[in-house]
Amino acid sequence: MSLTDLTLSELHDKLRTKELSSVEVTRAYLERIAAHNAALNIYLTERPVEALRDAEAADRRIAAGEAAPLTGIPLALKDLLVTEGIRTTCGSKLLENFIPPYNGTAVHKLRDSSAVLLGKLNMDEFGMGSSNENSAFGPCRNPWDRERVAGGSSGGSAACIAARLAAASLGTDTGGSIRQPASHCGAVGLKPTYGRVSRYGVVAYASSLDQVGPVTRTVEDSALLLQTIAGYDRADSTSIDCPVPDYRAALRNDLKGVRVGLPKEYFIDGLDPEVQRTVASAIDVLRDLGAEIVHVSLPHTDYAVACYYLIATAEASSNLARYDGVRYGRRVTGEGGLIEMYNRTRGAGFGDEVKRRIMLGTYALSSGYYDAYYLKAQKVRTLIRQDFLDVFAQVDVLATPVAPTPAFRLGEKGADPLQMYLSDIFTIPVNLAGTCGLSLPCGFAAGKLPIGLQLIGKPFGEDALLGVGHAYQQATDWHKQQAEL
Ligand code: GLN
Repeated sequence: MSLTDLTLSELHDKLRTKELSSVEVTRAYLERIAAHNAALNIYLTERPVEALRDAEAADRRIAAGEAAPLTGIPLALKDLLVTEGIRTTCGSKLLENFIPPYNGTAVHKLRDSSAVLLGKLNMDEFGMGSSNENSAFGPCRNPWDRERVAGGSSGGSAACIAARLAAASLGTDTGGSIRQPASHCGAVGLKPTYGRVSRYGVVAYASSLDQVGPVTRTVEDSALLLQTIAGYDRADSTSIDCPVPDYRAALRNDLKGVRVGLPKEYFIDGLDPEVQRTVASAIDVLRDLGAEIVHVSLPHTDYAVACYYLIATAEASSNLARYDGVRYGRRVTGEGGLIEMYNRTRGAGFGDEVKRRIMLGTYALSSGYYDAYYLKAQKVRTLIRQDFLDVFAQVDVLATPVAPTPAFRLGEKGADPLQMYLSDIFTIPVNLAGTCGLSLPCGFAAGKLPIGLQLIGKPFGEDALLGVGHAYQQATDWHKQQAEL
């Protein structure tokens, strides 16, 4: 077993007992990054020198007997988490040279525990996309098959787990951006409940939907990482002041007494047969572990994608108004006055998908259309949330596919935005409902393409999700399979 195969808890134990040093582990990751990043395009910014300095500091902290759970562990971050002194591009030309003056709260918590920061990860521009092909810096490739997408928008966060280019990472999820790439890359991705993790220092895409969460190799690692980043933060008025459970204590080995719901709207005709088969066998495993399987319905599911693309684009059009070439980011100077400067800057800085969304969102918010589109979508959203609250009166978690197909080919959906939008059909309702979802590997399609199982939990029910996911991983070894590079 090589150093880059160890899980977070294994690494923590070996670092704490000084069987390994953080410098050794960090070097092992840096060597792999140097060998494989060019072919996979996972990191947008590497920091080999600084990461080793982080590691030395972590080793000093461990020597002083002060090891926190993530001390000395090499991690990487989606490039829309704001990092002090480290370029934060959001996958956009507009922020290509943007160096933030502060750390976001989640980043601060990792730095505070002396985790090692390997670098910043590729993503769809501002989080808009499902394939990482909307990155201004080229697509991140899927380590299982380089001709295929890694998923998106947190493509780099998931691919770095599959390629063993970081021990764990953080991504963000507005409509599926943690869970869908995790599914396509064979990683574990958790979208926490809205309000669970502070978004201070997370570049906003759609503020009523965005959440930060861990991407890891195992469910236990997900629990560990969530423990460090979760909690109330005065600096984020949407973070919720409620106790953070002990997530590791919630991990379980059997599922006796657990009721798992299967929403019929998620097992539809268009589902890829291999996804269908794989998810069905994962549900058999849950049953064998003692879970009671219950058939349920989320009747407003059909409206979720349309509702999401109104709300997300409306919020994006407003959030992205700040990139005006005045305060930060790129500015394209030239003839004319301020308006011409705005136009040139935004015209040159944003990619096509971002422009499409700004136009759609501006339209949905414009006077005369607001009530018909945005307000209506908000009402539908309430119905979708109520569907979830109703079924959670009957079941503890829901089990569904993450994505309707395994990873598709690069370029396959580029010409048809609607097809691309439909890849998030099973993940979007969770964001609209503001609750939590976990994606974990549950098998492979032909050609060794990973497939994910989604577990959906009650608001603030991450502990139950992690409990079920861990039991599943104790009984299976899909999460131990490795992509050959
Ligand atoms: N693919 C969805 C979108 O493009 C979700 C992205 C995300 O979760 N950031 O909006």
